[in-house]
Amino acid sequence: MKFSTRAIHAGQTPDPTTGAIITPVYLTSTYVQQNPGIHLGYEYSRTGNPTRTALEQNLASLEDARHGLCFASGLAATDAVLKLFKSGDHVVAGDDLYGGTHRLFTQIFQQFGMQFDFVDATDPQRVVDAIGETTKMVWIETPTNPLLKITDIAEISRICREKSTLLVVDNTFATPCLQQPMSMGADIVLHSTTKYLGGHSDVVGGALITSDDDLRDRLAFIQNAAGAIPGPLDCFLTLRGTKTLDVRMERHCKNAEQIAQWLQDDPRISTVYYPGLESHPGYEIACRQMSAPGGMVSFVLVDESESHAREMVSRTKIFKLAESLGGVESLIEHPISMTHGAVPAEVRHKAGLSDALIRLSVGIEDLEDLKEDLDAAIG
Ligand SMILES: *Cc1c(COP(=O)(O)O)cnc(C)c1O
Repeated sequence: MKFSTRAIHAGQTPDPTTGAIITPVYLTSTYVQQNPGIHLGYEYSRTGNPTRTALEQNLASLEDARHGLCFASGLAATDAVLKLFKSGDHVVAGDDLYGGTHRLFTQIFQQFGMQFDFVDATDPQRVVDAIGETTKMVWIETPTNPLLKITDIAEISRICREKSTLLVVDNTFATPCLQQPMSMGADIVLHSTTKYLGGHSDVVGGALITSDDDLRDRLAFIQNAAGAIPGPLDCFLTLRGTKTLDVRMERHCKNAEQIAQWLQDDPRISTVYYPGLESHPGYEIACRQMSAPGGMVSFVLVDESESHAREMVSRTKIFKLAESLGGVESLIEHPISMTHGAVPAEVRHKAGLSDALIRLSVGIEDLEDLKEDLDAAIG
């Protein structure tokens, strides 16, 4: 079956007792057993819940993988991956990560003795150079947040195989609709399902996808032992979101491509970051590994002052000033004072993140309305 069909049907069969076409919200904490240990596959809802199973199978199918595991948030999923390792283990990560990922690595896991190096993964040689004896994992995001840098997944995966380290790809920005890291050699794909997969800004969640049976079992053990699971209603909402992922992404990309082009041609703008623009350094790799460039656009005004950027993001009316992304509604934000506030200034500057950067999550509203809104706010 093709992607848009799987998005609607994978993991879901009509309820055998009622014929309900939609997987119910199984609000139950426990399951009746026939004899001790003899049951229908579920014992306790931390370990497993049928609504969650449906979502896990749906997401695995969308990434063309064997297994999915769902978590209470994207960061809970990240936390579970890190718990595969122990004190002394080393991780090489991209230098333009989601702020919360950077915070979890450096302010929590570093305290437990894990070691992290952040490198510009768009240059694969830097990843090679950073990998040492104790390196257990390479962690990349592509496109990155918020600079939309593009990393060559197939090339990084080749390096990881050669060095016998795990490759994890945070695929939140692209979604499996536009990019399938498993097919390029990733061992684990991570999602903040809060974003495009949920798609309606009404639920927080995360997921890990893998085709490796052993990794799946170890991660499921951590999921059950540490307990950061999503509730059944969260799973239901996310499952409802994925049904329309394909059509939503088409419109997100169409609107974002037009807005990026329009901003690039506007004399009031100094730089536009969008992997669908030929001027973007990752354009060619993006063309190769993504089916479309996505719905996120970042830019800097000609007047590159932080105060100007803060004023502009407060002036839009349709683009709502908020953190997060990937919902049907357009959002605007100022990364350094919002989503990336936790990233130290020197780390931000090293990664090329300007204090005046503005980030858009382009929604699926009417394109002309969105352009008019930005046009008036830029002033
Ligand atoms: C939001 C986000 C996360 C964290 O997910 P939560 O659901 O907010 O915990 C991780 N990676 C990326 C790229 C994100 O945008």
